[in-house]
Amino acid sequence: MQYYSTRNSNKSVNFAQAALTGLAPDGGLFVPKEIPQYPANVKTSLGTMDFCDIAYETIKPYVEGEISGSALEDIVRAAFTFNAPLISVADRYAVELFHGPTAAFKDFGARFMARAFSFLRRGEDRPLHILVATSGDTGGAVADGFFDVPGIFVTVLYPKGRVTPLQERQIAGLGKNISALAVEGSFDDCQQLVKAALADEGLKKRMALSSANSINISRLIPQAVYYSAAAGKAFAGFPDPDGEATPRLAGYKTSAVPGALPVTLCVPSGNFGNLTAGLYALKMGAPIHQFAAATNINKTVPDYLDSGEYLTRISQATISNAMDVGAPSNFERMTAHFSWDEMKRIILGVSVSDEETRKTIAQIHEKTGYFLDPHSAVGWKGIDKLILENKIKNSAIGILCTAHPAKFSETVEPLVGPIPVPASLAHTMERNVNAKTIPADVPVLIETLYEKN
Ligand SMILES: *Cc1c(COP(=O)(O)O)cnc(C)c1O
Repeated sequence: MQYYSTRNSNKSVNFAQAALTGLAPDGGLFVPKEIPQYPANVKTSLGTMDFCDIAYETIKPYVEGEISGSALEDIVRAAFTFNAPLISVADRYAVELFHGPTAAFKDFGARFMARAFSFLRRGEDRPLHILVATSGDTGGAVADGFFDVPGIFVTVLYPKGRVTPLQERQIAGLGKNISALAVEGSFDDCQQLVKAALADEGLKKRMALSSANSINISRLIPQAVYYSAAAGKAFAGFPDPDGEATPRLAGYKTSAVPGALPVTLCVPSGNFGNLTAGLYALKMGAPIHQFAAATNINKTVPDYLDSGEYLTRISQATISNAMDVGAPSNFERMTAHFSWDEMKRIILGVSVSDEETRKTIAQIHEKTGYFLDPHSAVGWKGIDKLILENKIKNSAIGILCTAHPAKFSETVEPLVGPIPVPASLAHTMERNVNAKTIPADVPVLIETLYEKN
C-alpha cells in the first residue's frame, strides 16, 4: 500500500516509511492511498471469526509486500492477547476496549505498533527514539507496548498534574528504555513540543526519531480491527459473556439487544484517532450504520459537523481528561478522506458536560450494576441525547468503552462505591514515579533529548 501526506498527494511512501517517520516531512499526516475492501467471504463472517483472524484480514492489505503473511500472523497473535468483548448492558452494547495491560483501548494500537516497528527495523543497529505526547492514556499504552523492546527508546511527554496517579505510574513507572517528561502546560503544549522536536533538523541528524501518537498510521490501522469485530457480532446478534475485567456487579440480568441490524457505534473522542479508524472499518465493509462522535465540552468537531466551520481552541480540563483536546490532530486525516457533507451523513456529533457525565455514571450503575468510566459515560450520555433528538433509528447501538472505570477511580468511586480492580492495574499502582519536569519550551525539550545521548 502507498501512503501520502494530507498536505501533498503527489509524493507517496510505503508502510514502513509512513510508520517509522510518523509525521510527514511537510507536517501532514500519512493516509493510505485508498481504503481497501474486505473480501466478500470475510465481510459475511466477521460475526463469528476469531479476533486475531479479523486483525490479520484487516491489516494485511495495508502492509502487503512489506510484512509477509506469516510475520503478520505472528505480530497480531503477539499483540492481541486479549480481545474486545461485546457486552449487553440495558438497551445497548458496551464494546469493552479495556481488557489489555493498561486497561484502555490504546493498548490495541500501541502493542501492534511496537511489534511492527521491531519487525520493520530488523537488522538496523542505530537505535530509534520515539517521542509521544499524551493526555493520559496514550503514554501508558505506548510505554507498556515498547517496554524492553530492543533498539527502541521512548520519551513520553505528559501535562504535569493533569493525569491520574495510576496513569502517571503507567507512564513514569517502568524505567529501562522508557523516559517520562512532566510538562508544565496542557496536552496541546505537549503535542506542539513533539511536533517541533520531530521537525528539528539538528535533532534529526543526531538520532533516528519517530512518533507514536495517534498521528502514527501504524497505531491507527490496528484500531479498525475491533470496530469490524464488534459490528460483525452486533449484526449477527452474538454478544459475548462477561469477561474477567467486565465491570459489572453480579446478579444483574443482561437484556437482549436487537441483532441483524447494522450498528451505530458511539466513539468517545478527543484527538479523533479512534473515530478515524472506525471510518476505515466502515469503508472496508464492516456492517456499521453510522458513528456518533461524543466529546466532552471540548467540542471542536461536533461544532464543525453542525456549522461546516472548523475552529480549533484551547483545550479545557474535564473529568474525561483523555479527551481534553481543542485541536484534534486526526481531523486533518478525516478531511483527507471525506467532505463535510459526507461526514455529516456518517457521523452524528454530540457534546456532554462533566455534570451530565457524573449523573450518567451514577444512574447506569444504579439501574444495571455496570460501572462506566468517565470517557465511556460521555459516550453513553451522548447516545441518550441523540435518541431524544430522534437522530438514531433502526439501529443496534454500541458504546465504545474506552477505559476501565478502575483507571479513573478518583472520579467514579465517589459516585458508585468501590470498583473491582483488574489484576494488571493493581500491580501498576505499586510502581514508583520517576519523571523529569520541564517547561513547555522547545529548546528545553531538545536539550533534554540531547542529554540522553
Ligand atoms: C485516548 C482516549 C480517548 C480519545 O481517543 P481519540 O482517539 O484521541 O479520539 C477516549 N477515551 C480514552 C479512555 C482514551 O484513552
